[in-house]
Amino acid sequence: MSNIHIQGLDKTYPGTPPVRALHGIDLTVAQGEFVALLGPSGCGKSTLLNLIAGFEFPTGGTLQVGGAPVEAPGPSRGVVFQEAALFPWLTVWENVIFGPRVQGMPKADYEGRAEEMLRIVGLSDFKNHLPVQLSGGMRQRVGIARILTLGSRVLLMDEPFGALDAQTRLTMQELLLSVWQQLKPTIIFVTHDIDEAIFLADTIYVMSVRPGRIQQRIEVPLGRPRTITDTTSEAFNTMKRDILHLIRHDHG
Ligand code: ADP
Ligand code: MG
Repeated sequence: MSNIHIQGLDKTYPGTPPVRALHGIDLTVAQGEFVALLGPSGCGKSTLLNLIAGFEFPTGGTLQVGGAPVEAPGPSRGVVFQEAALFPWLTVWENVIFGPRVQGMPKADYEGRAEEMLRIVGLSDFKNHLPVQLSGGMRQRVGIARILTLGSRVLLMDEPFGALDAQTRLTMQELLLSVWQQLKPTIIFVTHDIDEAIFLADTIYVMSVRPGRIQQRIEVPLGRPRTITDTTSEAFNTMKRDILHLIRHDHG
């Protein structure tokens, strides 16, 4: 079943002159697929993610999620940015249950799930901590647990590990793979890091600039589950070389 279906998508931001951010984007994402959008700064990755989220609207073409056009942001699509937007005065637990609680859901309908999601992201022992007491990676985990508790089946991630140090970043990539392996959400993961895209995704869309286009769709030949050892394999290095070649020969 196709979960996200995008055809001939255009996005031009108004202004003098107008900015043509995306042109002729075709993208089909299956339920449970892990997709990476890979490209240099300014190629329209965030714009594409924001259109899928419903924060922005297309100026041409069609964009459907679950068979219906996206008309507004909604809990079915959870967004993770570079910094987790947590409430600093609420504990980890209160942050994670915030959405269902303000929606007036009965506790019995979300508390078990919240416990489960905190366990999956490895934060069961930190329920009573405040965000300021956590590392950057842990705050991102709270953000992920929060959208999973809301019941999001589509995760839209915009360079979520970009602000983390290399070691933490790797730990977070492994954690995300484990979350995906257990729950099989659809993930659209924006990055400009080739290694990150190959390590995580089933399918990589390489984008290019001015205007943002999809240059190539590439299927990642690595098996699942993946471990860090896979990033030193022959298949990994061949793929990395191919993508570098593709990017180097793109002159917009
Ligand atoms: P990326 O995330 O790949 O770095 P963006 O989607 O942020 O790229 O930006 C794509 C292009 O659209 C850039 O030229 C950027 O300056 C422009 N842009 C992004 N958001 C806006 C906006 N709200 N108004 C005008 N131009 C924008
Ligand atoms: Mg961006």
